[in-house]
Amino acid sequence: MKTLEPCPFFIGGEWIESKAVGTPVYNPSIGEVIAGCPAGTAADVNAAVEAAHAAFPAWRETPPVERARILSRFKMLLEENFEALVRSNTREHGKTLVESRGDVKRGIEVVEFALGVPSLLMGEVLESVARGIDCEAIRQPLGVCAGITPFNFPAMVPLWMYPIAIACGNSFVLKPSEKVPLTAIRIARLLEQAGLPKGVLNIVHGGREVVDALLTHPKVKAISFVGSTPVAKHIYEIGARHGKRVQANGGAKNYVIIMPDADVENSTRGVIEAAFGCAGERCMAGSTAVVVGGAEKSVLPTLVEATRRIKVGPTDRDLQPDMGALITRQHANRVQELISLGEQEGAKVLADGRGVKVSEAPNGFYVGATILDRVQNGMTVANEEIFGPVLNVMHVDDLDAAIEFANQSAYGNGASIFTRSCKAAREFKHRVNCGMVGINIGVPASMAWFPFSGWNESFFGDLLMQGREGVQFFTQQKVTTSRWFGFGEGDIWHREK
Ligand code: NAD
Repeated sequence: MKTLEPCPFFIGGEWIESKAVGTPVYNPSIGEVIAGCPAGTAADVNAAVEAAHAAFPAWRETPPVERARILSRFKMLLEENFEALVRSNTREHGKTLVESRGDVKRGIEVVEFALGVPSLLMGEVLESVARGIDCEAIRQPLGVCAGITPFNFPAMVPLWMYPIAIACGNSFVLKPSEKVPLTAIRIARLLEQAGLPKGVLNIVHGGREVVDALLTHPKVKAISFVGSTPVAKHIYEIGARHGKRVQANGGAKNYVIIMPDADVENSTRGVIEAAFGCAGERCMAGSTAVVVGGAEKSVLPTLVEATRRIKVGPTDRDLQPDMGALITRQHANRVQELISLGEQEGAKVLADGRGVKVSEAPNGFYVGATILDRVQNGMTVANEEIFGPVLNVMHVDDLDAAIEFANQSAYGNGASIFTRSCKAAREFKHRVNCGMVGINIGVPASMAWFPFSGWNESFFGDLLMQGREGVQFFTQQKVTTSRWFGFGEGDIWHREK
């Protein structure tokens, strides 16, 4: 039997191995178990929160410039260990090495943003709000914050949260996805190496019991969540009921509009990347192409050809395929069931990834790139987030109808348009109901310096992740209004007249 990779808790600066049976962590490329993620309990959460609570006072008093220096060393270590993190990410997730490089790089960019914390925390002052009275607003940390993350970006999503939280002076408890806990652990080891004091970052593992314990713990002040919409709603409701600040990113169904004037080569490349990048396991996946008028003839045939050529295979080796495996066998089966359901409900399968054979890794969790054409609103595949390599295609006559389709979605993460017309792009940007818009960009996921926005069922809360809103989320404002009377003993400049 192969040795399993350790999956310890990280509490108060100690790495703690647990014997608790939890969830198997797979290498999806070959379908083998590589680790066991322990199922933590409320007692583990309490230990982690108490450690974070104990570390908070000293960390809060650490000047922002010193906190930034630790993050600066952390960034350097992330860069030095970049390829090892990339391999770890691919091994437990299944995405290609190129995709893992993007995953880790995007995470590092958040650290780069958080490094600016001395400027980001600067407050506002107005001298003389009234005669002899000054007013200032400053930002202070909240205390213990917690983060709960999904499986699809093992490096990036945890890094959306705690670098900003700790830069602002908070301590943090991370609960990574039980399906991909290993890269998060490697990254935390680098932060420890960078000199983060014990207890400022803690990691607990597990599922619902651990999450509920975080949501209800009286010493947790704020919860950041990224995952599916039903769980995001649960997190928002329970967290808010327990008086916590909550930001909860949910699932999505993103529309890509292809106008008749779209450049064929660039729009094909953009749609392929949006639909099949990371095997469609992306909250920003462009999972529905809305083909407008003549684009049916100009772009769709090329898109179908390109989709049929996508090579699926194991990603845990040097020779890379175009697309990797899905996260678990159960999920791969579910995606194939949904393709069949789409077909039964009337969609035409133009490219079929069901039952794809990967001879070099027959036990991997594979589904090939699939196109379902003539999808109609109301079909299960039109509504449900498939989270796999399946592109729905819908046909409309004009831009108005395309925007109407996109705006019927219950979600609202992203939407893109491929066109040469500035007017069409402007109209689309203005009218589409979602948080991130792409113009000739298939995956308009915002970078660390901007908020990662989401509308409707894709986001619950007020303050978004990343960028300045991230800083606002992890801080509370204190407004001081001051007036000084007379002349005190220390007023050495005052001379009796
Ligand atoms: P998930 O909702 O199943 O799990 C996310 C986290 O919640 C995990 O840590 C998991 O342990 C925990 N969890 C699961 N069920 C729970 C429950 N009943 N109670 C409490 N906690 C629970 O999501 P996933 O399958 O890991 O990730 C995929 C989903 O995440 C997709 O829907 C995707 O769109 C979404 N996602 C959204 C964004 C975004 O920014 N909007 C980014 C990445 C992923």
